[in-house]
Amino acid sequence: MKGAEMDVIEQVKAQGERVTLPRRLVIEALGQAHDHLTISALQRHIQAEHPDQPMSDTTIYRVLQWLKAIGLVSQTDMGQAGTVYALIDRPQHHHLICLNCGGTITIDDAVFEALRATLSAQYHFMPRIDHMAIYGTCERCADGDNS
Ligand SMILES: [Zn+2]
Ligand SMILES: [Zn+2]
Repeated sequence: MKGAEMDVIEQVKAQGERVTLPRRLVIEALGQAHDHLTISALQRHIQAEHPDQPMSDTTIYRVLQWLKAIGLVSQTDMGQAGTVYALIDRPQHHHLICLNCGGTITIDDAVFEALRATLSAQYHFMPRIDHMAIYGTCERCADGDNS
């Protein structure tokens, strides 16, 4: 193993958590994909890499919820693309999703700096904005050009 998944496994161990085989396979798949994956895409990936280790979607879901709880994986509802999971990378990024054409725009984490500061100052609340999907209308659709 190399790269992102190795860092995540080190972080898991540093938190005193056990790295069981299902946990390792899910982290490995997320790290190698370099992308957001749905549970079924993750399942296909693990199946292809480890045909001898079949994993149910329930098991994968449980591992993902655990990784999310300890702050290493983000879970994002991407609309038509489904609910996706990804290792939380730095710097983080987020998405704008058009409800009309389904087009997406990737945005920088810096746009949330002001929101984080406001929530912290006014509500003493530190939000965990891992990987956001914001829905709306893109420029092209707002202009009425749907072709
Ligand atoms: Zn993303
Ligand atoms: Zn659009």
